[in-house]
Amino acid sequence: MELHGALVASPGMGHFVPILELGKHLLNHHGFDRITVFLVTDDVPRSKSLLGKSLTEAGPKFVIRFIPLDVSGQDLSGSLLTKLAEMMRMALPNIRSAIMGLEPRPRVFVVDLLGTEALAVAKELEIMRKHVLVTTSAWFLAFTVYMASLDKGILFKHLSSIGALPIPGCSPVKFDKVQDPSKYIRELAESKRIGAEVITADGVFVNTWHSLEPTTIGSFLDPENLGRVMRGVPVYPVGPLVRTAEPGLTHGVLDWLDLQPNDSVVYVSFGSGGALTAEQTNELAYGLELTGHRFIWVVRPPAEDDPSASMFDKTKNETETLEFLPNGFLNRTKDIGLVVRTWAPQEEILAHESIGAFVTHCGWNSVLESIVNGVPMVAWPLYSEQKMNAWMVSEELKIASRLNVADGIVKKEEIVEMVKKVMDQENGNNIRKNAKELMKTAEEALKKTHIPSAYFIQN
Ligand code: UDP
Repeated sequence: MELHGALVASPGMGHFVPILELGKHLLNHHGFDRITVFLVTDDVPRSKSLLGKSLTEAGPKFVIRFIPLDVSGQDLSGSLLTKLAEMMRMALPNIRSAIMGLEPRPRVFVVDLLGTEALAVAKELEIMRKHVLVTTSAWFLAFTVYMASLDKGILFKHLSSIGALPIPGCSPVKFDKVQDPSKYIRELAESKRIGAEVITADGVFVNTWHSLEPTTIGSFLDPENLGRVMRGVPVYPVGPLVRTAEPGLTHGVLDWLDLQPNDSVVYVSFGSGGALTAEQTNELAYGLELTGHRFIWVVRPPAEDDPSASMFDKTKNETETLEFLPNGFLNRTKDIGLVVRTWAPQEEILAHESIGAFVTHCGWNSVLESIVNGVPMVAWPLYSEQKMNAWMVSEELKIASRLNVADGIVKKEEIVEMVKKVMDQENGNNIRKNAKELMKTAEEALKKTHIPSAYFIQN
C-alpha cells in the first residue's frame, strides 16, 4: 500500500520552512511514496513570494498546497501564540476537508505545535499515526508539557516564585529569565491546552539535535523525568530542519557581500515579522553606526505596541520610505552599510563568508540557520519563546552575546558593546570559536536520520 503523509503548518515562515524540510526528509529517508504539505495562510500571494524557491521543489511526490484563511472581521488581538492558535482553529474545517480529499488516504499525519487541535481531526479520520512537529527547541516543548501537567495552584506558585523552575531533568532557570510572566498568564489557557494535546500524539518531532540540547533530550528519554510528563509519547530530535542556501542565487545583497572581507559584516534581522519602536529603531541605527563595522540591516517601519505586528500587516510594504531612520544615517553609512527593506535572502546571507555576526530576535529558525553556518549571534529577543532561545544561545551554548534591555529600551552603547563582544575577538572570549564548534555537530546531525527506520513502515 502506498505510504502517504499529510503535513500541516500554521501561518508564518517560521512554521512553513521546518514543515517543508521535514516533508522532504520523510520522502527521502523514510520510504514515503508521497508527502502532501498544507500551509495555512491569510495571505497566499505573500506566502508564495516569501517561500520562492521552496515551492519549485514541489512535484507529484511532494505536493504543496495552501489552505487560505479569511481573517477579515475577526478579532485576532492578543499574543502571537493566541492569534496563531485561533487562526488554526478557524482553519480546522478546511484542514478536515483537505485531508478527506487526499487520495490515497494518508497513514501518517504531522501538525506543528500551534495546530494540535488538528490531531483530533486526524484521529476522527482514522489516520494511523499522528505527530506533532515542534518548530522550536526541546526545552520549549519541555516547558509547555510540564506547565500543562501542573495544577493551577502549583503553576501560579512557580510563576510568582523567586526560585528556579523545576522542569524535570532540565537546567533550572528562573521563570522571568526565559518568559515574560504577564504575557504568559494571558496565554496560559491556550498554552495549557497545547501542552495537554501534545501527549495525545503518537510521537513528537523536534527541530533540534542531541548535541544542541543533550540535557533536555536526555530527560525526554528518561521515564523518570520528562518521559513521565510525556506519558511515554516518544520524542524524536529531527533537526536541524533548515533550508540550505541556493547556489548561484543572484541578489544585490549577495553581490555587495562578495566585495566585503571575510567575517566583517554584521547581519541584523528580526525574522519574518519582528519590528521595533521608532525610538528603538533610532537607537539601533546610531548603535550600528558607532560600532564602525560593516552591516546589512533588514529594516521594517516602526511598530509601537506589538513587536510581532508586521507578521500580519499588509499595509506596509517594500516601497515604503525609510524616512523613519535618523537624519543623514543612510548617507553617513553608505560605504559600510546596506539597508534592505522588509525581507532578505537569509540562508544565503548567513552562508556567506563575509558575515561575521548575526543580530537576531532569536526566532528558532534564525538561531538554527546561524548555528548551521557557524555564525555567532547577538541575541535580541522580542516575542514568543525567543527569551528562552536567547538564554540558550548566550548562557548555555555561549555562542552569542545578549543585549540588555534597560528601562524598556536597548541603548546604543549596549548595542556597540555587545556587537563588539562578538566581532572583536581580541578580548579573549570564545563566542566565535564556540559557534564554529557547534556548527560541526549540526553537520553531523544533518548526515543522520533520527526516527527509527522501520517506524513508518510498521502496521
Ligand atoms: N527570513 C528570511 N528573510 C528575512 C526574514 C526572515 O528568509 O528577511 C526567514 C528566515 O531565514 C527564517 C524564517 O524566515 O527561516 C523566520 O523564522 P524564525 O523562526 O527565525 O522567526 P519568526 O519569523 O518565526 O519570528
